[in-house]
Amino acid sequence: MNTYDYLLVGGGVIGCSIAYRLAKSGAAVALFDSEKAGKASMAAGGMLGAQNEFERENPLMEIALESRDLFPVLRDELLEESGVDIELRKAGLLKVAATDEDRSALSRQYEFLLDKDPSVVWLEPEEVPEVEPEMTAHTAGAIYLEKDTQVKAPLLAKAFLKAAVNAGVHVYEHTPVQNLLIQNGQAIGVTSKLGPFYGERIINAAGAWSAALFTETSFAPPVIPVKGECVSVKLADQAPAKTVFAVDGCYIVPKRNNEMLIGATSTPYSFDPAVTAGGIRSLLNRAARLLPVLDGGIIERTWSGVRPQAADHLPVIGFDPFIEGLCICTGHYRNGILLSPLTGLLMEKYLNGCPETAARLAPFSPGRFLTKKEESLV
Ligand SMILES: Cc1cc2nc3c(=O)[nH]c(=O)nc-3n(C[C@H](O)[C@H](O)[C@H](O)COP(=O)(O)OP(=O)(O)OC[C@H]3O[C@@H](n4cnc5c(N)ncnc54)[C@H](O)[C@@H]3O)c2cc1C
Repeated sequence: MNTYDYLLVGGGVIGCSIAYRLAKSGAAVALFDSEKAGKASMAAGGMLGAQNEFERENPLMEIALESRDLFPVLRDELLEESGVDIELRKAGLLKVAATDEDRSALSRQYEFLLDKDPSVVWLEPEEVPEVEPEMTAHTAGAIYLEKDTQVKAPLLAKAFLKAAVNAGVHVYEHTPVQNLLIQNGQAIGVTSKLGPFYGERIINAAGAWSAALFTETSFAPPVIPVKGECVSVKLADQAPAKTVFAVDGCYIVPKRNNEMLIGATSTPYSFDPAVTAGGIRSLLNRAARLLPVLDGGIIERTWSGVRPQAADHLPVIGFDPFIEGLCICTGHYRNGILLSPLTGLLMEKYLNGCPETAARLAPFSPGRFLTKKEESLV
């Protein structure tokens, strides 16, 4: 019989990071993906923007900073456990204002971040090319975040998956999980085209698809898909080293071999994988205004992915309010790559009953979305 301690639904960075940590702690784990593992995770820019992402106090910030700082050790660990180099690059991130309005918002973010970390630097327009020579001098100012690093996201997804397999996780790709098996209010397994699988705990880590899972029997996390399109451009030389992130959301992430990853559009409620001419045109226009050298580059490829976004933009992590044994871990929106290392570690502790970890994860509890009527049913 197909019986495990944990059944994980979703083979993106979140599902694989959790599966890896659970298997390392000695649990028997099965992981399912409806297609090849790692949907949104393969599309991501790979920025580890733990400072870039926050402009004011937010319960996620401390977790984001801690997760970002795990990457140097994780790189070595995953290289050993999977043989995959996640290409961690430590050149830092320039957050750039294009207009005076952007500059006011950016200077407020600068004050907020500087208060927590004196390494954050404000740059006047003429100072920007001194820090990144390929940048235009025609901006309205920038901040330099030297600690916001980056990785190659598809390699991180691959490394977590391989490390999970090497730690003993049974991976079932091209195997959509269909329904939840429930006995006396307790989740006991799932159904699939391979037949039923049984587990002590079932974890919904299906990213943008998590709200569509088990809808007839359990709480549906209010997570929507937010489609993002990207393009990569290869430069012959003069490649910048630092990630450049415009206040309007367009970014350029330099990868190995002079490949510049340019992202990303943002279309809520869309699972449509098509890459549009308008989307790519808008990205290229905005990116080349910041880094004129991009105009001479060669387009290598375009792609799209879907970010899982909860109503309040925070992850949704915790036990299902109605079904015992069912756990949810989704809604990492545009920071799933950044948050994946710590998510795996915290989930392993949470599932093993650690009260401190439960307290830490309380702001992300699925219960925060319950109506008063639903709360009375829990
Ligand atoms: C364009 C773009 C750029 C991004 N850039 C960054 C960035 O720079 N930095 C950052 O930190 N984050 C970034 N993100 C966000 C990041 O990619 C996501 O937050 C993260 O990948 C979510 O991981 P996940 O494992 O939850 O979801 P996914 O990687 O989407 O994995 C979910 C998996 O569940 C599977 N699944 C769905 N339904 C079922 C089912 N019924 N049965 C079995 N399997 C199922 C899917 O096939 C999928 O593989 C970006 C995202 C996009 C789209």
